[in-house]
Amino acid sequence: MMTKWPTRFLQMAELVASWSKDPSTQVGAVITEDNRIVSLGFNGYPHGISDSAETDNREMKLLKTLHAEENAILYAKRDLSSCEIWVTHFPCPNCAAKIIQTGLSTVHSPQPSADFLSRWGEKIKISQDMFDQSGVKVDWMQVEPSTPSKEPSADS
Ligand SMILES: [Zn+2]
Repeated sequence: MMTKWPTRFLQMAELVASWSKDPSTQVGAVITEDNRIVSLGFNGYPHGISDSAETDNREMKLLKTLHAEENAILYAKRDLSSCEIWVTHFPCPNCAAKIIQTGLSTVHSPQPSADFLSRWGEKIKISQDMFDQSGVKVDWMQVEPSTPSKEPSADS
């Protein structure tokens, strides 16, 4: 049966991604449990670290930035073993490791764009492998690029 929740959570992740101050990549993550939102995160510097994302060079940015998944996991401050995570971009291997270790059961991600694949294809393969080995489910979502749905609400 079709349900609206997957679309809603992915849209929520996209909204949260737009809060990121990173000028080059905006990533969002939403952690849910039984159709309820448990935590949110977007990529960015930790609290109190000056927002110099515009001026820091790429290497400095990589060192200081928390990824959306990390922020969502940290912000939750609870056991996440019955939860699922929704991301706008497929997790990097470091985040995959944290997702596995916190016991999240499922990763929902939109099918990567050709551009994203060409930049990150190798890392996607590593993360996918890690998820496969550890039994974390991966749900590749088919998404129409972000127009809010207009069809009348028969389901949900
Ligand atoms: Zn990451």
